[in-house]
Amino acid sequence: MAIIKCPQCAKSISDKQVICPHCDLDMKDLTEEKLHSLSKIKTLKNSQTLMTHQAIAMLLFLVGVFTFYNSEDKTAPQYLLSQVCILVGFIWYLVNRVRLILAKRKKL
Ligand SMILES: [Zn+2]
Repeated sequence: MAIIKCPQCAKSISDKQVICPHCDLDMKDLTEEKLHSLSKIKTLKNSQTLMTHQAIAMLLFLVGVFTFYNSEDKTAPQYLLSQVCILVGFIWYLVNRVRLILAKRKKL
């Protein structure tokens, strides 16, 4: 008995299992074509998640910039918070940007 990864949900299952206990995928009628489309769907979902993260990171960055330029009191906690937002948003955006590029490169 060996532990394999389910091609649909990527959870660990036994290779003796006929149906994945996590997502009910039937292992018996898995064709090469079906495996290919499953991995395509997974890549698509993955890049969609990354794009969502990228949008949130961008929003965080913009909110940070907006708060930064609109706070008059430089000792207020919002001022520090806006700087944290800018930094986190910027780094998060960059990380997601790189991950998206890597994901696209892997597809080719
Ligand atoms: Zn599964």
